[in-house]
Amino acid sequence: NPPPPMERYSVQPIGYIESDFPDKFGVPRQPGLANAACASLVLVPPYDDPLAVRGLEAFSHLWLTFVFHQSPARWTPLVRPPRLGGNAKVGVFASRSTHRPNRLGQSLVRLSAVDSRAGVRLVLAGCDLISGTPVLDIKPYLPWAEAHPEARAGYAPEPPPQLAVRFSDEAEAALAVREDAASLRELIRQVLAQDPRPAYRKGAEERIYGVRLRDVDVRFRSADDDGTPVMEVVEIV
Ligand code: SAM
Repeated sequence: NPPPPMERYSVQPIGYIESDFPDKFGVPRQPGLANAACASLVLVPPYDDPLAVRGLEAFSHLWLTFVFHQSPARWTPLVRPPRLGGNAKVGVFASRSTHRPNRLGQSLVRLSAVDSRAGVRLVLAGCDLISGTPVLDIKPYLPWAEAHPEARAGYAPEPPPQLAVRFSDEAEAALAVREDAASLRELIRQVLAQDPRPAYRKGAEERIYGVRLRDVDVRFRSADDDGTPVMEVVEIV
């Protein structure tokens, strides 16, 4: 049989993400790695009809299908997962790379609340998405069908290691005056524990990096406490 003709499918966002991550740098590489990260999915007309989410509040987790809108449209068959240190290559379809055909992403996120007072806003936790990410679809997560703790997971068999994070006195003072001090501190800790630096950067270095979280710029560096790697928050501006 001849292959079916190549068809094109057009899709449109049903809504957009508002999250604690204004930029790509620092965003966790999978959902659930930073549970302190707050996000909302705000539906747009005509999908912002409360009828369209009736019953959704009874589910604790959702699958979001979205577009990696900040990734280039080009793709290559081989990619370098950060998990492999950025050197070894695997097939793009054996990865969760953002550089893929159709630029489709899929994240399992926690649903904290459904707010249908004016339009529809889904309050989410543990998102790995930049603010402004266009979302194409929502589906409730079914643990009895979809959870497979015994599954093999190739080159990513367990969660990535976490680094200890310490805060300078200056950073603590900047946090102390904020209403969201506790949740912002935890967000910073969870994000830096993943070592957001590029995969080829290893170990302590003098260089100071900046990551934007919520409305602040977090300046940090990688240090060493008697041979144990730590991330140090230098200042929060
Ligand atoms: N869980 C999803 C998946 O597996 O399809 C995303 C995994 S992907 C490795 C996660 C990374 O995508 C984040 O660390 C961030 O750098 C990047 N990212 C998040 N939102 C994006 C967007 N809208 N456009 C491009 N890159 C994005």
